[in-house]
Amino acid sequence: MASPLILVTNDDGIAAPGLQTLAKCLETVGEVVVYAPESEQSAVGHGISLHHPLRVREAGTNRFAVDGTPTDCVMLAVRKLLGRRPQIVFSGINSGPNLGDDVTYSGTVAGAFEGMLLGITSVAISSAAYETTDYSTAGQVAAHLARHLLEHGAPADTVLNVNVPQLPYEELAGLSITRQGLRDYEDDIVTRQDPRGREYHWIGGMRPRHIAHEGTDFEAIDSNRVSITPLHRDLTNFRALAELQDRNIEL
Ligand code: MN
Repeated sequence: MASPLILVTNDDGIAAPGLQTLAKCLETVGEVVVYAPESEQSAVGHGISLHHPLRVREAGTNRFAVDGTPTDCVMLAVRKLLGRRPQIVFSGINSGPNLGDDVTYSGTVAGAFEGMLLGITSVAISSAAYETTDYSTAGQVAAHLARHLLEHGAPADTVLNVNVPQLPYEELAGLSITRQGLRDYEDDIVTRQDPRGREYHWIGGMRPRHIAHEGTDFEAIDSNRVSITPLHRDLTNFRALAELQDRNIEL
């Protein structure tokens, strides 16, 4: 069988160390082609570029930088430039966690979400440390998971959102399949004056508090375990759907 093709993207940009480690580790599993944003795109969510042309720059063998978002990268690579369909899309390794409600802001998760929309097994992987200095454990987890997914596939219409504690591989306490937790914080917004006396605001709040409810991604990370949360393509809240239908709201 031909070597499986693995498409790699991220939101920290083509030069990010987490991307380099991910590509290198996945090269032990299959043929890796990287399409990643030219510059950092953290927190762009699932945005696509509709108002400017996309340029692709060759940044090495099988390495391409795109002046767009993670979603642009995956869409362009799969639908136009790769030439054959990848077996897996990996997005990451993000610098910093993507836990709880933060998945909706995440460019890392969005890159994988786009792969899933294109019908490909897709994984977002993040280092759960706010200051990541070592991506090697997350890289090992990625390669391990890639081998599993090539053999067994993934559930349909699902993105696997993986977060990895920053610990040596042998010190991980295990792996948990988790549900998405809920954050419990307000974004820290700083208001100051610019040199011309005009007010500006800066959204901070990069270190959320959370309640590590049982079975959540937060709890797994707090317990030094790898967290894998299956995120669903369909965002419908089915309990609310039934409740709203029962209200008979009419025009
Ligand atoms: Mn990022």
